[in-house]
Amino acid sequence: MNWITNYVRPRINSLFSRREVPENLWTKCPECGTMLFHRELSDNLNVCTNCDHHLPISPRDRFAALFDGGAFVEVKVPDPVADPLQFRDQKKYPDRLRAAQKATGEKEAMLVAEGEIGRTPIVAAAQDFSFMGGSMGMYVGNAIIAAAERALRRKRPLVLFSAAGGARMQEGILSLMQMPRTTVAVEMLREAGLPYVVVLTHPTTGGVTASYAMLGDVQIAEPNALICFAGPRVIEQTIREKLPEGFQRAEYLLEHGMLDRVTHRSALRDELVSILRMLGRLPAPTKADLPPPAPSAAPAIEVKADAKTRTPEKTGAARAG
Ligand SMILES: [Zn+2]
Repeated sequence: MNWITNYVRPRINSLFSRREVPENLWTKCPECGTMLFHRELSDNLNVCTNCDHHLPISPRDRFAALFDGGAFVEVKVPDPVADPLQFRDQKKYPDRLRAAQKATGEKEAMLVAEGEIGRTPIVAAAQDFSFMGGSMGMYVGNAIIAAAERALRRKRPLVLFSAAGGARMQEGILSLMQMPRTTVAVEMLREAGLPYVVVLTHPTTGGVTASYAMLGDVQIAEPNALICFAGPRVIEQTIREKLPEGFQRAEYLLEHGMLDRVTHRSALRDELVSILRMLGRLPAPTKADLPPPAPSAAPAIEVKADAKTRTPEKTGAARAG
């Protein structure tokens, strides 16, 4: 049995997965049409190097770029009841879930983690639009509650990255229930005096906008992100009028007082560190205080510093020895 699970199965798996190596090394920018090399794109946090368009980024990649040294610990989220309504449209709900899990490599539409950014301990939660449109079901509700409870226990601020098409229709009223549930979770943080910062990413819509995504102490958005309850197409059809340009986009909402900041993805980390340290009454961040980026570079610098400061001691020791 061991031989089968430890040797044969990995071999078979590797044979099959080898064929699935992605050959699409290029991504076309949906805004300007430039072909972007995948490594260049990921090095630039999935922002187009030509036109600065912010392409979607997975929660895992975002956390890897956000946390110091890319190190974070996942916070466990309790599993909700599976398929309570036995929902079926063209596909069964569990089949849709499985397909999304296979496509994204993630369990559900939200990832919760804790770690440090700029030596500031935080809890973070990020929603995955590529997982069934980031839809808010019971799992996402549980994830936000787990994140808030962890933040409370550890007395850390909570940073939430939203991206969602709204509530998960396959869970019906149970998904809508997540609106008050998550609102209560945010309220728990407020009562404990812990900062809750929301970063709205493209797109954040529906019930998510109507609950936890709009309740932050500080509301930041990524450039040109669509943030709305009902989308522009629906509104246009309802009121039969042409909407102004940039309607419901981050910059428009900033101008109209719905947001505090619109921040480029490359500047987001530093800005979060500044805001969280300010709200947590911690000393201002200093670049020099950050841990060295490459572990291999650390000893060389330390040895040099040591050699300078401890030269007399060392020579003394050598003489004595
Ligand atoms: Zn572009």
